[in-house]
Amino acid sequence: MTAGEVGEAGIRPGAGGHPEVPPAGAGGPDWREWPARQQPDWRRDEFHAPVRRALDAAEPLVTGEEVRELSARLAVVCSGDAVLVQAGDCAESFHAASDARTDAVVAVLDRLAAGFGGGRPVVRVGRIGGQFAKPRSRSEEVVDGVPLPPFRGHLVNSEVAEARARRPDPRRMLTGYRLAASAHRRLAVHREARSGGWGPWSSHEALVLDYEAAFLRPDDTGELVLGSTHFPWVGERTRQLDHGQVRLVASARNPVACKLGPGATGEDAVRLCEVLNPDRTPGRLTFVVRMGTPAITSALPPLLRAVRAAGHPVVWVSDPMHANTVSTPDGRKTRFLAAMLEEVGWFTRIVRDHGEHPGGLHLEVAAEEVTECVGGPVPGFAALADRYETLCDPRLSPAQAAELVARAGF
Ligand code: PEP
Ligand code: MN
Repeated sequence: MTAGEVGEAGIRPGAGGHPEVPPAGAGGPDWREWPARQQPDWRRDEFHAPVRRALDAAEPLVTGEEVRELSARLAVVCSGDAVLVQAGDCAESFHAASDARTDAVVAVLDRLAAGFGGGRPVVRVGRIGGQFAKPRSRSEEVVDGVPLPPFRGHLVNSEVAEARARRPDPRRMLTGYRLAASAHRRLAVHREARSGGWGPWSSHEALVLDYEAAFLRPDDTGELVLGSTHFPWVGERTRQLDHGQVRLVASARNPVACKLGPGATGEDAVRLCEVLNPDRTPGRLTFVVRMGTPAITSALPPLLRAVRAAGHPVVWVSDPMHANTVSTPDGRKTRFLAAMLEEVGWFTRIVRDHGEHPGGLHLEVAAEEVTECVGGPVPGFAALADRYETLCDPRLSPAQAAELVARAGF
C-alpha cells in the first residue's frame, strides 16, 4: 500500500478533498518510540504504517523564519512590553474547518486584542491549525449505560457516541494535516496583510506523537523546527520530563509552552525550565498556569519563587478555564465567568507581587455566540441549552471573552 492509496478519514460525506503529500523531508530524532501518555491505540491498524510514511513525506506547515519571528515577539512579552492573547476552540472540528472559520477566529483574536494590554502590542495566537487531539481524564465514557472509549479529538476518532465511531483511525491524521495546511495558508494571508509581525500565529497541544514527530525536521539553517505549528504546548497530563511530548518540543526551535496545574511544584517548574529552555532565552518558554480559584493563591507563589531563584526567564500566562470546570445537574460541563475573573485577578496580583510581568491569557473561545459558559449574556444553567455546541470543553462566546479580557487588569 502506498501513501496515495491510504485515503483520509473523518470528513462527513460531501466534504471531500485529498491530502497533499509532497516528497520526503530530512527526518529528525524519532520521538514516536518514547514513552508517552494519552496515545491512541492504533498501531496494529493496517493504515498506521502507510499514514506515518505519508506524514514523514508531507510538507511542513510553518517555517524556521516564522518561528524565529514569533520567538522574538514573545521575548518582548517576556520583558513586559507586549502581551499575549491565545484563544480558540478546545477541540477544533474537522466539520467546521474552512477559510471563513479561520477568518472568524482571527476576528475574535483582534477583538480581544483591542481591549487588552493597556496599549501595548498584542501577540495573537490561535488554538488553530491542528488543535485536533484531546487528552482525556477518563479512559471510558458511559453513554446511556453503555461504556465507550472517550472522544480523543478528530485527529483520532469521532465524537459520535457509537463504538465504531470511537475506534481510533490513523487515516484521520491525513485529514487533520490537510485541514491544518489550509488554516496555515489562511493565517499567512492575515499576517502578510499586517506590518510588524503582530499578525495571527498557530498553536496546538503537541499530544499525538505519531503526528507531531513526523514534522520535527531541520530547516535550511540546520535547526530542528516542529513544522506542525508555530507554538506547540505540552498539556498538564503529559508534562512528564522523560516522556515523548516534553522531549519533542525540547528539541524544537519553536517557542514552546507548558500547562501547569495546581499540583505542580517549584521543583517541577524549574526542571521544566532546564529541559525546555536550557539556554535561558527570553520568549522561548511560556508557562500557562491553570490552577483554579482559590487554589492558585497557594499553588502559584512557590513556582514563581523557585523559577526566579533559579534565574530562568518565563512568560507567565493565565488559563483561567481548565481548573474551573463544573457539571450542571443534568451532566453538562460548564464554567462560570465570575470564577475565571477571580482566577485572573489572583494571577495578575500574585505574578506582580513576585516581581514578574503577567504575560497574557490563554482562553477557550468559540468564533460563534455559543452558550457553553455561564456569565454575561448567559444568566444561568437553563440558558446553556440554547447553543451548546462544543466537541469537548465549554468555550466562552466572543462577547464573554471580550468582557473577561477587558476586566482582566493587564
Ligand atoms: C486544553 O487546553 O484543552 C487542555 C486539555 O488543557 P490542560 O492540559 O491544561 O488540561
Ligand atoms: Mn480544553
